[in-house]
Amino acid sequence: MKKASINWTNMLLFSLTPALALILVPLYGYFYGYDLYEWLVFIGLMGFCGMSITAGYHRLWSHKTYKAHPILRAIFAIGGACALQNDVLHWASDHRRHHQHVDNNDLDPYSAKRGFWFSHIGWLLRDYASGAEDFSNVGDLKKDPIVMWQHRHYLGLILLTNIALPAVLGFIHGDIIACLLLAGLLRLVLSQHLTYLINSLAHIWGQQPYSRASSARDNPILALITYGEGYHNYHHAFQWDYRNGVKWWHYDPTKWMIRICSVVGLTRDLKRSSFAQVEKAKLDMQYRRATEKFESRQVSDKWRPLLEQEYQQFLQTLQLWSDHRQAWYETRGQQIQKTFEHWDQLQLRDRYREMQYKLKIQRRRWQQLMRKLAKPLPYPA
Ligand SMILES: [Zn+2]
Ligand SMILES: [Zn+2]
Repeated sequence: MKKASINWTNMLLFSLTPALALILVPLYGYFYGYDLYEWLVFIGLMGFCGMSITAGYHRLWSHKTYKAHPILRAIFAIGGACALQNDVLHWASDHRRHHQHVDNNDLDPYSAKRGFWFSHIGWLLRDYASGAEDFSNVGDLKKDPIVMWQHRHYLGLILLTNIALPAVLGFIHGDIIACLLLAGLLRLVLSQHLTYLINSLAHIWGQQPYSRASSARDNPILALITYGEGYHNYHHAFQWDYRNGVKWWHYDPTKWMIRICSVVGLTRDLKRSSFAQVEKAKLDMQYRRATEKFESRQVSDKWRPLLEQEYQQFLQTLQLWSDHRQAWYETRGQQIQKTFEHWDQLQLRDRYREMQYKLKIQRRRWQQLMRKLAKPLPYPA
C-alpha cells in the first residue's frame, strides 16, 4: 500500500522547533542565563496554553461538558492559538472522531492501536486518510462566533501569541531574546508534547477502573503534567463530565478552574455523572475481572457463589441508595409547614441516611472480597 504523503508544514514545524529549542535554550542560558521573571513568564504561558486546550478546546468545545461566558471563550481561543495545535474546529472535529471511533485504525485520527509514535505525533506528519479534514461533526461549533473568529484569524493569532507576546513581555523586562526562547520556543514545544501524551501514553500506561471498551487509561502521574487530563479511562467512559479526576482529591486543576469560574458566573451548567453511575461502572469492571480469574483457574471455584451474591447485593443497595437519595432531595428544598408532612420529610431523610450507611458497609465488604481474590492460590476454604 502506498504511504500517505508527507505534510511538510507539520514535518518542518515538529522537527525544527524541538531541534532549535534543544540547541538554543541551553546555549543562551549558558552564556547569558535566565532570571526569575523569565521563568515566571514561561510558567505563566505554559499554564495559559495548557488550560486553554484542556478547559477550552477539550472539555468545552469538543465535549460541551459546560457552558462558558464569551470572555472566557475568547481567552481560550487566544490561548489555543498560542499552543499551536490547530484551530478549535480542526481540533474538536478530530477529537470527536477519536471518541466515536476510538482505537479504530481507519477512522480514529490518532488511534493508539497504531503505536506510541503514531498516536503521539506521527498522525500529524503525513496526510493520513484517517485524519482527513471533515467538519460534518462540528456544525454546532460553527455557530459559535468566537470559534469562527479564531478560525478566520488563526495565522495572525499564532504570530501575535507566539512571537509578539513573548517579545513584548521580554521588552518590558529588558531581554527580548530570553523571553522568546523560554516563553516562546521552549514553552511551545513542551506544551505541544504534553498534550500529545494524552493521545499516546494515556492510551498505553495506567489502569482501567471504569471500562475496557477502549485502550484509554487512568494515570495520576500523567495528570500531574497535563492539568488533570491523565484520568483518561474515566474520561472515555464519561466524556460528558466536566471532571476528568472524579474524586475531589484527584489532581485536576482544569476541573477546579471550571468550578471556580462557575462561582463568578464565567461558566455554568457544569455536567457531571452521578455517584451511582460511576460506582456501577467500577463495580462491573471489578466483577468482570474477578470472574475472569475463575475462568483462568487463578481462584478456587468455592468463592464463586459468594462473589455472585455480593455483586447482586451491591447492585441492589446502589439502586436503593440512589432512589432514596432522589426522594429525599426532591422534598428537601420544599418549605413544609404542617407538622404531619414535616414528619414525612424527616422519615425520607432518615431512610436515605440509613441507605448511605448500608452502602458504606456493602462497599467495605466488597473491597475485602476483592482483596481476598487478589491473593494467589491456595485460599483457605
Ligand atoms: Zn475527550
Ligand atoms: Zn483518548
